[in-house]
Amino acid sequence: MTGEIEVRISAQYEAMRVRRLAAILGASLIMGGCFMLYLIMDLTFLPQEIHSESHNKWAQLEDRLNQLEDDLRRHHDTVGQLKHSIKDMVGEGLRQESISPNKTTSSPRMALLSCGLQVSTPPHTDVQLLELYKQLKFDNLDGGAWKQGWNIEYSQHSWNPHKKLRVFVVPHSHNDPGWIKTYEDYYHSQTRNILNNMIKKLREDDRRKFIWAETSFLALWWDEISQEEKAQAKQLFANGNMEVLCSLLSRLFANSNMGVLCSLLSRLFANGNMEVLCSLSGRLLANSIMEVLCYLSGRLLANGQLEVVMGGWVMNDEANTDYYSILTQMIEGHQWLQNNMDYTPRSSWSIDPFGESPSMAFLVKRMGLENLVIQRVHYSVKKMLARSKNLEFLWRQTWDGSGSTDLLTHMMPFYSYDVPHTCGPDPKVCCQFDFRRLPGYGMACPWRTPPQVITEHNVAHRAEMLLDQYRKKAQLYRTNVVLAPLGDDFRYDQASEWDAQFNNYQRIFDYLNTNPTLNVEAQFGTLSDFFTAVREEVSPEQFPTLSGDFFTYADRDDHYWSGYYTSRPFYKRLDRVLMEYLRSAEIVFGLAWSSRPNFASWLLAPETGFTKLLSDARRSLSLFQHHDGVTGTARDYVVEDYAKKLHDAIRGSQHIIQQSVYALLTRNMDLPDSEFTYFDLDDVRKHHYSIPEKTVLAFGADMEAHTVVLFNSLTWQRKELVTVRVSTAYVKTSPVFLRSGSVADSHYDIMFIGEVPPLGLATYRIHAVHPGDKHIWRLLKFPARPGKERSGAYLFLPDGQAVMLTLDRPLVMVVEGPLLSQVRVLLPEVQHYITLYNTPGVDSLGLEVNNIVDITDHNNYEFIMRISTNIQNNEDFFTDLNNMQIICQHAILLLKIICQHAVLVLQMIRRKHFTKLPLQANYYPLPGAVFIEDDETRLTVLTAQPLGVAALKPGQVEIMQDRRLNQDDGRGLGQGVLDNRPTPTSFRIILESKTSKCQVC
Ligand SMILES: [Zn+2]
Repeated sequence: MTGEIEVRISAQYEAMRVRRLAAILGASLIMGGCFMLYLIMDLTFLPQEIHSESHNKWAQLEDRLNQLEDDLRRHHDTVGQLKHSIKDMVGEGLRQESISPNKTTSSPRMALLSCGLQVSTPPHTDVQLLELYKQLKFDNLDGGAWKQGWNIEYSQHSWNPHKKLRVFVVPHSHNDPGWIKTYEDYYHSQTRNILNNMIKKLREDDRRKFIWAETSFLALWWDEISQEEKAQAKQLFANGNMEVLCSLLSRLFANSNMGVLCSLLSRLFANGNMEVLCSLSGRLLANSIMEVLCYLSGRLLANGQLEVVMGGWVMNDEANTDYYSILTQMIEGHQWLQNNMDYTPRSSWSIDPFGESPSMAFLVKRMGLENLVIQRVHYSVKKMLARSKNLEFLWRQTWDGSGSTDLLTHMMPFYSYDVPHTCGPDPKVCCQFDFRRLPGYGMACPWRTPPQVITEHNVAHRAEMLLDQYRKKAQLYRTNVVLAPLGDDFRYDQASEWDAQFNNYQRIFDYLNTNPTLNVEAQFGTLSDFFTAVREEVSPEQFPTLSGDFFTYADRDDHYWSGYYTSRPFYKRLDRVLMEYLRSAEIVFGLAWSSRPNFASWLLAPETGFTKLLSDARRSLSLFQHHDGVTGTARDYVVEDYAKKLHDAIRGSQHIIQQSVYALLTRNMDLPDSEFTYFDLDDVRKHHYSIPEKTVLAFGADMEAHTVVLFNSLTWQRKELVTVRVSTAYVKTSPVFLRSGSVADSHYDIMFIGEVPPLGLATYRIHAVHPGDKHIWRLLKFPARPGKERSGAYLFLPDGQAVMLTLDRPLVMVVEGPLLSQVRVLLPEVQHYITLYNTPGVDSLGLEVNNIVDITDHNNYEFIMRISTNIQNNEDFFTDLNNMQIICQHAILLLKIICQHAVLVLQMIRRKHFTKLPLQANYYPLPGAVFIEDDETRLTVLTAQPLGVAALKPGQVEIMQDRRLNQDDGRGLGQGVLDNRPTPTSFRIILESKTSKCQVC
């Protein structure tokens, strides 16, 4: 229980002793929305007593742990109270709720709190990814035409008139909301044409189909098109509006079992299959109104030519994203579809994110989607799954013992989602069926055999050539249903491409379908058409189950896409900052609305602009979740554009927060001024590239006191250290160091322990006092150790192990005080702060590490922080996925915010360092947390921003801090990464003794 562990933290060899720190993984660092607002208008509050601590040593851990358990227990109670409050509000309409700071009660101890982190065995599945990795040789043999696979063979007799091969050619256009161009530039130059042509060209022939993924572009387009075009677009969707239909039917039939009929109709309509519906309905209802019914249904449900897949605002990155932002962007997209098109997506489509996370499978299933397609998976994993016909599987969560999270998932087998790699295994053949590459269209096949226009003379030969590819592709799956996507990035922007693709394919389909000896049925389809056919042939329960994730992605050779876990870390941090602000703004705005009825309609009124600010902030955060946004893989000016949007959204959220807090606290009954700044927030960001600065509170003869309001956006009581910057030393202060290493003489940091109730506000008053306090601080010198490599925005391609940095006289300062002890190391590349808090709250558990990394003076430089311990973790370590937190057994935080027996758990996934893989393959995403452990000790690092992480040697964890890369890495970006900025990063390192209840499987 009392093991002493020596920890060497990153840039110095300082041995720091930490005794028995049992950790409880609070979400405070992850979503630490405790914002400070400075009052600049005098309000009439009763100031609370400022707390002080008399001891400056770390000897009160037991007390603090007990305190923490109490706090968490109160959190549980608060959630219970919230549930009742919301029930009451729903039941009785709006009413005023108090937000009293001390509203806590006691309850029995929670059983699970004795263990900070529990790890369970993954459920038994047919495929477990970590086990698969252990078996794989990763030998990268040349497979011939299908380079990363093998020569596929099949028997002609596999199909007959009763068992035909069914082929669904699914036309699609992948539109990035920002990459080489900005979101708006893409829309104006390309996407607008694609969508306009879509309406026109689909209406020309109802056999044509099309799928669309990014709702953000639909929203821009919708604002421009006429009412008539909107009506046409709606008709192309299978919008599944069963409620309207069923209500109409009820009136028509006014009898019998509408429930059964509606359920049947729901299933049948999804694919627009009116014929089957009419025949079935005919049997069911056997009366004369069928014609009316079919006419009505056709009008209402349209023909299913167009399907929105996934339906998020963007197709989000899956490595760096936090689940809160994923939910935000999915809700934003789905709400838009619901509000404007009365449409609900059924299938998900994740073809370009650089690695696939099971969190997405979990979330989209909970959102009601039934199917998923994924593409960017390590080529060796694809080959192994293809060999065993496991490319279609039920993706199961690692904590799910019952299979309730299973999602039917189709993995594309080949190199890419472009046409050469989707019809079958031979890209040279498939490329000839991308009719955009016909001579004269300005695009060629790299395999040097161009497509041919399909004519009466060549159709037999060409169709059979293509059928051969479809048949080979079918050998990799368990059904006789082939998915053949037909599209690429920003395709179908010209009307001529629609004609070229659709007309030539239709000629091929007509030939195939009218030759019974071929035993094939080929057609254009939507994604749901394909999945409906798959489900007709094999019931979902018969598919193999799979658990685990698909990181780290490699598309060829040793080209591992682990660089983007860290690229542009400044903006990765900004992403999390906005996420915290937006969440807080929504909560405090909601509190103001529900607690102050006299302000409620004013808060929502268009004139105040608050709802627009919130909506814009949600959309800016959503846009950045795009797989070229938070990944840091867009062009410099596109990154600027994202950053400006994030910055505007932060300011907008700050405005909402200060206005809402004022509305909550003022005793004045007059409507506030919606443009006035009642509070300054303690986080000033002048530009989108600025490091945040603290507001300095000026004290003088005419200003002897300031009021500070703290807001806690979390659902538990918080008692943490609060730092306020002031202009006078005549308060309890700590010196402020300037970047040069000198000590500022015009401002000081005052620290106190703030206590804020769950989802509440606390007010403190700071008075100027007479001098008397002493500071003890001294200077020391340490050496440091980061590394240097080469690569590009996507890829991490190091020459070898990281090398230690040689240092020239670093400036080291040590500050010791009653509330914190801090070591500050100033190096050319990093300002490195390590802080140990002496407070009763979560912030006192472990060390806080803050860096400001600046590598702008270097070329081809990748900078890491390495933590070395004597923990015997062998090759194993654990990282989280999407910061996702699970409460209870079946619900997640935001979907089911209210939950009995709430226990927060981070979803952690076991990783293994494989020496058979290159260094860059052993880097993984670090969205929230990483830990290593042995029988006695666990070391956890929580991060406030997503970065790349590895555990390359026993006892070590290394986190990449920033990357500066002079060259492109050949994945289409066409530039290096040279727009680095001084970047703040923040971590908490927790060391704990393991108890018997915390045993890992
Ligand atoms: Zn993309």
